Amino acid sequence: VTAVMWFRRDLRLGDNPALLDAVAAGGGRVLGVFVLDPLLWDRSGDPRRNRLAASLRSLSESIGGRLVVRRGDPATVVPAIAAEVGAASVHVSADYAPYGQQRDQEVEASLKCPLVRTGSPYAVAPGRVLNQQRRSYQVFTPYFKAWLAHGWRQPAEAPADVTWVKASSEELPLGADDAGEGAALKHWKAYLEDVAAYDDERDRPDLDSTSRMSIPLKYGEIHPRTMLADLARKRSAGAEAYRREVAWREFCADLLARHPQAAWKPLRPEFDKMQYDEPGELFDAWRAGRTGFPFVDAGMRQLAETGFMHNRVRMVVASFLVKDLHVHWRFGARWFMRSLRDGDLASNALNWQWVAGCGADAAPYFRIFNPVGQGLKFDPDGDYVRRWVPELRHLDGKAAHEPWRYDASGYPDPIVDHAEARREALRRYDAMRS
Ligand code: FAD
Repeated sequence: VTAVMWFRRDLRLGDNPALLDAVAAGGGRVLGVFVLDPLLWDRSGDPRRNRLAASLRSLSESIGGRLVVRRGDPATVVPAIAAEVGAASVHVSADYAPYGQQRDQEVEASLKCPLVRTGSPYAVAPGRVLNQQRRSYQVFTPYFKAWLAHGWRQPAEAPADVTWVKASSEELPLGADDAGEGAALKHWKAYLEDVAAYDDERDRPDLDSTSRMSIPLKYGEIHPRTMLADLARKRSAGAEAYRREVAWREFCADLLARHPQAAWKPLRPEFDKMQYDEPGELFDAWRAGRTGFPFVDAGMRQLAETGFMHNRVRMVVASFLVKDLHVHWRFGARWFMRSLRDGDLASNALNWQWVAGCGADAAPYFRIFNPVGQGLKFDPDGDYVRRWVPELRHLDGKAAHEPWRYDASGYPDPIVDHAEARREALRRYDAMRS
């Protein structure tokens, strides 16, 4: 017999229960396939495409070059390949995102053998964390407590003795990044040595002290269970704080699985009535990192140049778009999904909703970030701004956050008056509520 392992967001061999099931079902004979689904591939931006390609290359190398890559609609491609090798079953780790769930149902309907779902990209699968009335949570802190109490399995070993079955494959797309399971584990182990500082330093983009694990997590080069097991061995406030962030990722996935419409629609229905402006020149300035607010521009340029942005800065640029420029968060969320290497529908949409005040457990709408104050607080010496905004490199220390007080030709003037924009945001909020 042969079993098919259909890889999706789990591009690794270690701690992969779906793969272990495939090996058991195939008596050691497994065909590993990845389907390049045009619907997802064509919508991703280059940063995500390149990163995925690099990860696939690495996975293929680790199975002797035998990863089979086929392009097309999974509902056609997966049954075809299963028939080609006479597969007894097709194995996946479950996908809880709206498109993924629908796609898997379609594949299941056209397969002649079972589609077996084992595990998920989360320590606790969406839908499992329930309160005493067996309802899911809308608020993070009680979710987090229940998530901890629920617990998770210990990481599983990579399978031994697999015969990877050959089949024709498309050329793998090129990917330049350093990616894959080995690189992810190495990066994580090195980061773990410094995790104690996470609690104090994670809000400081100038120190660049967060883990950047969102990218390997996105592609499943590592499972969060593996990380949580390592964190449990570290007794520090930093390790505790880190675990809480991992739980945020799971909370986002849980919310999206229960409210698929939350991908692009506000979770709080009253926000359907919120008045927003059409994205025009101001939106273009935001995307280009030319708003005249140094902390915002530094973030948007970091995003454009590297496909990454620090979490604190994501919050500030998102707030700026929604509350200073009065543009719907959906446009920002879409730009992020195009630009981020870690672009993940659940984490992205729910965090945008959090910032925009319309999410489940959102920041209150009337709490409006001051983009200059945030910069002065979290980038106190201006290093982050100078790193990403070359026009401001001649300004020392904090001065980089307030270029209008100095000579900064070549750098744009602020595109809005923050105090005025803030008043307008509050006016619209009141109008929505009345
Ligand atoms: P670390 O600080 O080292 O955190 C460790 C891990 O915890 C992260 O890798 C991530 O998996 C998880 N995590 C941390 N913060 C959050 C959070 N607020 N929500 C969910 N998970 C979190 N994260 C994504 O992975 N993909 C996205 O598309 C995404 N879009 C975002 C959009 C906005 C507007 C905001 C405010 C946040 C977004 N985040 C997103 C969450 C967060 O910014 C990133 O996960 C984090 O910056 C990644 O960097 P890191 O791995 O160094 O984080």
